[in-house]
Amino acid sequence: MVDKHLKICSLCQNPAVYLDREREIHLCSDHLITSVEEQVLIYLKKIDLPPVVGIAFSGGKDSTALLKAVCRILDQLSCRVVALTVDEGIERYRQETIRAAEETCSILGVPHYIIRFQDVFGHSLDQLVSGSDRNACTICGILRRRALEILARNHSIKVIATGHNQDDHAQTALMNAISGDVRKVFSGMGESPWYARRIKPFAEVSEREVTLYALLFGLFRDLPECPYASSSLRGEVRALLYRYERNHPGSMRHAARCEEEIRDKLGISFERDPYQTCVSCGWPGSGRVCQVCTILTNEHLDRT
Ligand code: SF4
Repeated sequence: MVDKHLKICSLCQNPAVYLDREREIHLCSDHLITSVEEQVLIYLKKIDLPPVVGIAFSGGKDSTALLKAVCRILDQLSCRVVALTVDEGIERYRQETIRAAEETCSILGVPHYIIRFQDVFGHSLDQLVSGSDRNACTICGILRRRALEILARNHSIKVIATGHNQDDHAQTALMNAISGDVRKVFSGMGESPWYARRIKPFAEVSEREVTLYALLFGLFRDLPECPYASSSLRGEVRALLYRYERNHPGSMRHAARCEEEIRDKLGISFERDPYQTCVSCGWPGSGRVCQVCTILTNEHLDRT
């Protein structure tokens, strides 16, 4: 990870571990850590935080770095944190990441709550996709959102922080543009009083900074990759954006902010369709039957 061209920190005389190519400054390990934590603190200070904030915690690099960063600045915030983990039921992948998550929470002294697809939906993700050509990531995303929501409710948590970083935002913005779905670009965040509010304290922090932060604290573990992670559109978009960033420093940040700036400047916003109440489970959804029930009903039909 350490760039061979790195020199001395621009803020002190220590060896640099990070080069911000856009601002052309070098940072040593201490100043990189401070910079990441300051960005998280600035983000969180703008929000009216409830007494308890849930951190969506997969045990992977990004959410581990976020948990660590929030714990280190907690004395400057008026809340405490708990870690929320969803076990989708993915053989040879989830057991290891959950073990890592449990260890991290125990070291940081953070309460840790876990919810399992098998318990909530009656099936693991492996069972839901086995023998079918259904897209695992689509099903996983829909069910995980519901599972996380249930877990948050069970513990009266109204705000959930996720480890999405600036690169993730840039990728989503470009994917929205590629999709040609103007509503995706101009609709709001889709917040509803029914759901816990989602916040992204790493929104202004790059993937490289998050990775280095995790490395510097020894939080980087060699964990298995999800077997369903494929060469998706996101993977192609990620590679494209990295190439741009390498050749044109600042591209990632501009891409991450472009949607918001376009929305603000043009003053355009589509109201999202009002939620309907699912006739099957009673949760809000975009149709008569919500996506979760549609997935589970199809599962039932597939197997009868
Ligand atoms: Fe779920 Fe896909 Fe991520 Fe695996 S790669 S955890 S299936 S969203």
